[in-house]
Amino acid sequence: MNKTLILVVEDDRPVQNLMVTTLKAHNYRYLTAMNGETAILEASSHNPDIILLDLGLPDMDGIEVIQKIRTWSNVPIIIISARSEDMDKVEALDAGADDYLTKPFSVEELLARLRVTERRLMMGQTEQASSSVFVNGKLRVDFSSGCAYFGEEELHLTPIEYKLLCLLSKNVGKVLTHTYLTQNIWGHSWENDVASLRVFMATLRKKIEKNADSVQYIQTHVGVGYRMIKVE
Ligand code: CA
Repeated sequence: MNKTLILVVEDDRPVQNLMVTTLKAHNYRYLTAMNGETAILEASSHNPDIILLDLGLPDMDGIEVIQKIRTWSNVPIIIISARSEDMDKVEALDAGADDYLTKPFSVEELLARLRVTERRLMMGQTEQASSSVFVNGKLRVDFSSGCAYFGEEELHLTPIEYKLLCLLSKNVGKVLTHTYLTQNIWGHSWENDVASLRVFMATLRKKIEKNADSVQYIQTHVGVGYRMIKVE
């Protein structure tokens, strides 16, 4: 029996029904809200484990809902947006959302997103963040010595590649936007920074994935950002 409690915030009935039916079929517990105000209320009174949040709500902007919830809670928030709302998606991630689903999505996609998030929850984010060594598959980052390893081999990273790897590692499972990454690396986010980011990401990836036996550690989200995947 799956005990994870999901808050579904969606004003579009058919979409809400699809999500609720899926959750029921997979033994999730769930709550629903049709607007932002109810969503905030439900989130504060029932402490859900995960929130699925539609960005286009009748009473307020989904971004506002995220900002409000983030004032007291770190609950994972997966946003649901239409393809035309690409910018909103990026803004929502920057406001503290963890992941996103683009409409129309399949039941499999929804379940996959929930599994990724549950895995992150099980790992214990706080434990991971305060630990001085990060381990993911064959990848190992020793934050205190500033060294990274793949298997037995030390990775020779440039300072920016290392910083990038640290940001991804400390937020494993979470999609980090271009703005978030460039802000944290260079302190600003200009047009050129995103282009540089792409270059550093490519060189970092080459170093990690050259002997990774085709296991993917870093995922690209076109137009949005990057995510490190928790490897089994
Ligand atoms: Ca909507």
